[in-house]
Amino acid sequence: MATNKKYWKGFDELTESPEFVEKKNNEFPAELSVEEFVGSKEVSGFTTDRRDFLKFLGFSVAAASLAACEKPVIKAIPYVNKPEEITPGIANWYASTFYDGNDYGSILVKTREGRPILVKGNSSFGINRGAATPRMIGSVLSLYNEARLKGAHRHSDGGCLPVSWSDVDAEIGSKLESIAERGGKIRLVTSSVIWPSTNSAISAFVNKYGGSVEAVASDPVAGEVPQETETTTAESNVSADVKHVTLDEVSYSGIRKANQECFGSDFIPDYNFSNAKVIVGIGCDFLNGWLMSTEYVGQYGKTRKPESGWMSKHWQFESIMSQTGSNADQRVRIKPSEEGVVAAGILHAIGGGGQAAPENLAAYCQKVGEELTAAGGASLVVSGSNDTNIQMVVNAINNHLGSYGKTIDHSINIGMGKTNDDEIKKLEDELTSGSVDAVIFYDTNPVYFMENGEQWRTAIEACELSVSFAQYDDETASACGYICPDNHYLESWNDFNPKTGHYSLAQPVIRPLYDTRQAQESLLVWAGEAARSSSKDSTVVYDYIAENWAGNLFAKQTEYTTVAEFWNWAVHNGSLDVKEEVPAAQSFAGNIQQAVSKATDIEPQEMELVIYQKAGIGTGKDSANPWLQEMPDPLSKVSWDNYVTMAPADVLRMFPGGLSEEAKANNADEISDYGAWNSLYIGQESPAKVVSVTVGEKSLKLPVFPMPGQASGTIGIAMGYGRGAHGGTEPVIGKAAYYTGKYGGYETDDSGNLVAIGQNAFALRGWQNGNSCLAGIGVSVEATTETYPLACSQTHHTVMGRESVVRETSLATYLTADSETYNPPFKLSVIKDGKHQEVPVGEADLWDAHPVENVGHRWGMSVDLSSCIGCGSCLVSCVAENNVPVVGKDEIRRSRDMHWLRIDRYFSSVGDDDRNAWEKDPTTNTFDYHKMEISEASPSVVYMPMMCQHCNHAP
Ligand code: SF4
Repeated sequence: MATNKKYWKGFDELTESPEFVEKKNNEFPAELSVEEFVGSKEVSGFTTDRRDFLKFLGFSVAAASLAACEKPVIKAIPYVNKPEEITPGIANWYASTFYDGNDYGSILVKTREGRPILVKGNSSFGINRGAATPRMIGSVLSLYNEARLKGAHRHSDGGCLPVSWSDVDAEIGSKLESIAERGGKIRLVTSSVIWPSTNSAISAFVNKYGGSVEAVASDPVAGEVPQETETTTAESNVSADVKHVTLDEVSYSGIRKANQECFGSDFIPDYNFSNAKVIVGIGCDFLNGWLMSTEYVGQYGKTRKPESGWMSKHWQFESIMSQTGSNADQRVRIKPSEEGVVAAGILHAIGGGGQAAPENLAAYCQKVGEELTAAGGASLVVSGSNDTNIQMVVNAINNHLGSYGKTIDHSINIGMGKTNDDEIKKLEDELTSGSVDAVIFYDTNPVYFMENGEQWRTAIEACELSVSFAQYDDETASACGYICPDNHYLESWNDFNPKTGHYSLAQPVIRPLYDTRQAQESLLVWAGEAARSSSKDSTVVYDYIAENWAGNLFAKQTEYTTVAEFWNWAVHNGSLDVKEEVPAAQSFAGNIQQAVSKATDIEPQEMELVIYQKAGIGTGKDSANPWLQEMPDPLSKVSWDNYVTMAPADVLRMFPGGLSEEAKANNADEISDYGAWNSLYIGQESPAKVVSVTVGEKSLKLPVFPMPGQASGTIGIAMGYGRGAHGGTEPVIGKAAYYTGKYGGYETDDSGNLVAIGQNAFALRGWQNGNSCLAGIGVSVEATTETYPLACSQTHHTVMGRESVVRETSLATYLTADSETYNPPFKLSVIKDGKHQEVPVGEADLWDAHPVENVGHRWGMSVDLSSCIGCGSCLVSCVAENNVPVVGKDEIRRSRDMHWLRIDRYFSSVGDDDRNAWEKDPTTNTFDYHKMEISEASPSVVYMPMMCQHCNHAP
């Protein structure tokens, strides 16, 4: 065990502020003032209580009761004619797939009496092998969001009004025909389509209005299914300029363009972290949201098991403390503008050309270079940058090391991240110039996530025909003439091809709750390929997918001999692997020295912004989900808000009130002033300071959160917040996306409009070297005199003075030393002989007063802390499985969170010689803990899931 570390969860604990010391021995720092709460006059005005909070937030299973059964169940005996597959009281599980344009994974869905109640990762089939993000697990709740549109809608002067599907089909069909006849422009804008059958439906649509599909590009994933279609060639009597454009929140255009330069083909290869002995991430959160992160977490976990005799060495160069960076062995803080010089410096250090790193980074790059060279091809360098030049330099590093073919596989291509930023610019120009006649949006929301969203809104509103398949009257949908709401994915059939040779299926686990229709069916109906179904039991999409699989995939496998057997097992397993190959990539080429020169020539800004994905909210697609809003961020432990993360020293520089006069006089950066550190504390009675963040003409005001480990001169703001702000007094995307008031109700602004939670950071995104960028944006940050309450749970649960809850050791010690060296037995403090005494665990019996004989099976649970990345998925799973109440920001702020399971996040700093000397002889040394901790600007992070300890027979 490393004995020279101290673990701390918040600044008050670190500095042992008087408030902290007073509360240290209470498990809950704030008294649960039940009398005050229950006796309050305001109680009579409550619109909710804590256990009813979900209902208050607009989630209901009333519709599900109807959809789950043919008739509403009102009798004690639930079924007269029981469906064969349902046994009351016994849950059914179905294999399916989750994909929201950002996260992908094979899942299992648990249903009870026909209602889906839980989603978890499928550990038997699929490429994520059981891994699931909090967003995937929480997605079951969005099925029951009452803000979902209940049928097709049309926007007119009278507002957003329901319209029948037959009218919608007739009106949209006739407008498309008329536009096509005069050769107008039709644009179909989607997130990255990895749905093979959807690609076919899109092709059918393009063919119908654009003529032939001769100009269709081949799919780089499957090699045969079109993914982007464009044609102006007429074969029929209609001939529009029809184009399918991919537009995701997060662009990977830089990787694709770099591969075009280096390998002659626009693709994203398959990364395999499980083979990597040395992993280097440069501004890349590959364990949270980056490409196939649900697959990477499992691969990464395999390299972190000391029992195998080896562990990967993970270096992370980054600005904000990311989920991935918090798990790194060695973290180096850089500004986004330095990512290019780091990549070039590493290339130089391994002898592949590049450019020597500047003085502040040279030693790190040299050391990384040595370790990469020693590992050779068993290494992997990845970058989260969307700059083509930086990605080319990273390609050169991997190529020089021989990683292609070992940790990077060209022959397997990733289907996600298809956005081409050049195409986006063209589309934007077409729309804003008014040359687009019809635009259709599927699973993409540019009015929300483009930096000039309002321009997009105006342009969309000006189109002759605009259609959205959104499930809500969201930012883009509200600008469209028609909303044709898609089914929830748990009500839908779908198929997926996330990477070469791997296919998966989504199946409905409940009938559609409302009068919605799958987007694929809408496209097929408008393309004249299917007749509109008048019932909820439409088989249009099912038939289309089953036919495609029988026609295209059955022949590619050898396991099953009949189509029926093949299809049944595919649905049962939820996924399928077949033999497929993509055309061989060219050998490595490209003008790397030119890329190095451009990558190292990025001008640093005084303050640089990183727009990042939080583990809970991600890109914001499901930001009206109260489970995800209430989940504390794994690093900041803040719920229900986004905020500006900033290096503690930078916060003190901006708000020097906490610095002593001496520190101010000497050096404003001096943060070994413990009083100043105390001023950073955020708690129930200590609101956060507010800063104003400005990029060009745009400004946001947000609370500032001092984040240990953040690079000085940078700020981070999470994307995915500020959703639904256009809704006025209506909670258009769901009530949980808006601030609730104290004791229920909603906060409203001066005009009476609902206030969206957080601010939309996408509004500040920028462009660099022709690509969209979310990091390195020059920004100015100014202090304000305002404060803002944050619901921060990081100091809710003290460790009651027990310093040794977390234990760590080095791989060498683990492999060579006796287990007592790194894991000495715990001692318990007990009252014995009338006084406190520490005794070995074996001598204390927690069960004395709780006889356990004859209690039957006793369940235990262990978590491999070497593999735990602190993602928070288990927390959301626990909420879903155990129906744990959501209590809202105000209750969380007052330490009244109800989570049964929490993820403790400890920062730790390595001791120094002073400490060792002090421990040997405290009288001759001036060392103290504070000095040691504060001097470490980049602490390590350890996660430890804390279970409820309620299993079976809690003492
Ligand atoms: S144990 Fe750790 S890695 Fe596993 S779900 Fe929980 S937080 Fe995530």
